[in-house]
Amino acid sequence: MDKSCIKCGRCLAVCPVYKASGYERISPRGKLNLIDFYQKHLLFPSSTFQETISACILCKRCEEKCILHTPISKIIHQTREKLWPLQKKQYYRSWVVNKFLASYQKNLGLWLRLYTLCKHVFPLPFDLASSPFLSSRRFYPSKKAKANIAIFSGCVTNFLYPNLGDKLIKLLSKLGYNIFIPPQQTCCGLMAYTLGDKETALDLAKKNVEAFGHISIDFIITPCASCYHQLKTFLPYQEAKISEKVIELSQFLQEKPLSFLPLNKKITWHDPCHLRYHHNIWQGPRILLKKAGYEFEESSPEGMCCGQGGSFALNFPELAKQIFRRRKETIEKTGAELVITSCMGCLIQLKAGLGKQQVKHILELFA
Ligand code: SF4
Ligand code: SF4
Repeated sequence: MDKSCIKCGRCLAVCPVYKASGYERISPRGKLNLIDFYQKHLLFPSSTFQETISACILCKRCEEKCILHTPISKIIHQTREKLWPLQKKQYYRSWVVNKFLASYQKNLGLWLRLYTLCKHVFPLPFDLASSPFLSSRRFYPSKKAKANIAIFSGCVTNFLYPNLGDKLIKLLSKLGYNIFIPPQQTCCGLMAYTLGDKETALDLAKKNVEAFGHISIDFIITPCASCYHQLKTFLPYQEAKISEKVIELSQFLQEKPLSFLPLNKKITWHDPCHLRYHHNIWQGPRILLKKAGYEFEESSPEGMCCGQGGSFALNFPELAKQIFRRRKETIEKTGAELVITSCMGCLIQLKAGLGKQQVKHILELFA
C-alpha cells in the first residue's frame, strides 16, 4: 500500500474534477492508488491510465485537505513526465497548442498563415489581436524613475489582449517606473510543464532567462497569475535569480497610490487556483477591490476552480464545462454583474461562459 495515502477520502470533497465527474478513478485518491500500482510495475500505462493522469487541473486544492500532507499534484505531475512520450499522441488539441507555444517566437508568420488557412475548420472561441503586444513595445522611461520594472507579457496578453499589457504599462508609468519589455521573451512554459513535456518547458525557460537576464531590473511583473506561478516556481527561473524579482500584481500594488475607474455594478472576485492554492495569495486582490470602494460580494470564500486549467479544458472540455457550471452558480447567487480576476486562463474561461462584458481583468479597473 502506498504510504503517502491512507485512503481517507478527505481530498475528494474538494477536488473539482471528482466533484464534476463522480468517478473514483479520477479522484486524487484514485489517481494515487493507480500511480502506486504503476510504480510497482503492476499496471500497464494504458490509454485509460493516461486519461486518469491527465484528468487533473494540478490546482493543489486536494493537498490542503490531506492529513498526511501528500504532495498529490507533484506525484501526478511526475507521472505525467514519465508518460509524456505516450501522452502527446493521445491529446491532439493540447499537442497543437503546446507546439505553437513552443515555437511561435521563431515561426510566428508560418503559424499565423496556417491559422488563416484553417480557421474555418478550427475556429477559436476568441479573436486574435491584429498585432501582438510584443511586436512593437520596448522601453518606457519615467522622469521619476523609482525603479526598473520588466513586463513579462505571457502568450494570452501577447496574442489576445495586448490592451491589458498597455493598461499595465500605463499603470506602472503613472506610478513612476522605468518599464522594459524584452522583445525576445516567449511563453513561460507552464503549458508544456503541466503536460509533462519537460524538454519544451526547459527550452522556453532558457529563452526567457536569456531575454531577461541581460537587463538591469528590480522587478518583473506579469498580468497573468499563471505566468507568475511558473516564473516563481520553475527551477531554471529560480537558478537564474529571475524568480526572486517576480512580484505578484496585487501584492505589488497594495501600498501604491491608485486611482480606480468608477463602477456602478456589484462585483465579485475569482481566485485563480495558481494564486490561491499554490501561493496562498487571495487577500491582496480583495483588499484592492474594497479600497476602490466598489460594491463587492464574495462568491467563493475558499476559492473555486473555473475549470480552465490550461491543457485540462483542451483535453476534457465536457468536464471543464461542468466545473465551470458550478462556479457560475456561485457567482449568480451573489447577483454580481461583473467578475474580476487576474489569470488569463480564467479570463478566457469566464468570458466564454458568462459573456465578454461580465468579466474583467483587474488591470481594467485602474484609471
Ligand atoms: S490537484 Fe486539483 S484537480 Fe488534481 S486531484 Fe488535486 S484537487 Fe483534483
Ligand atoms: S486526503 Fe490524503 S490520505 Fe486521504 S485519501 Fe486523499 S490523498 Fe489519501
